[in-house]
Amino acid sequence: MANEAGPRLEELLRQGVPVAAWCFDCGHHAVLAVAYLCARMDGRTAVAAVARRLSCSACGSRAIETRPHYTGLGVVAGHRWHGD
Ligand SMILES: [Zn+2]
Repeated sequence: MANEAGPRLEELLRQGVPVAAWCFDCGHHAVLAVAYLCARMDGRTAVAAVARRLSCSACGSRAIETRPHYTGLGVVAGHRWHGD
């Protein structure tokens, strides 16, 4: 069983960093409070693996990606996302 790379939910919880999730199919995106996620799954879950537990609230797709939302501290504003 492969270990997911990247930070885990419990690390973001300590840092107060939310999780950004978005849908590849319709472009819907959301920022999820990490405390909300930790209440529903193991805090040792890798952030990247959270996507497999989600489906899009707009179109129902399971083509979701999740990653730490480091740039969103304090403010969730705007609808521009920059890929990398
Ligand atoms: Zn969608």
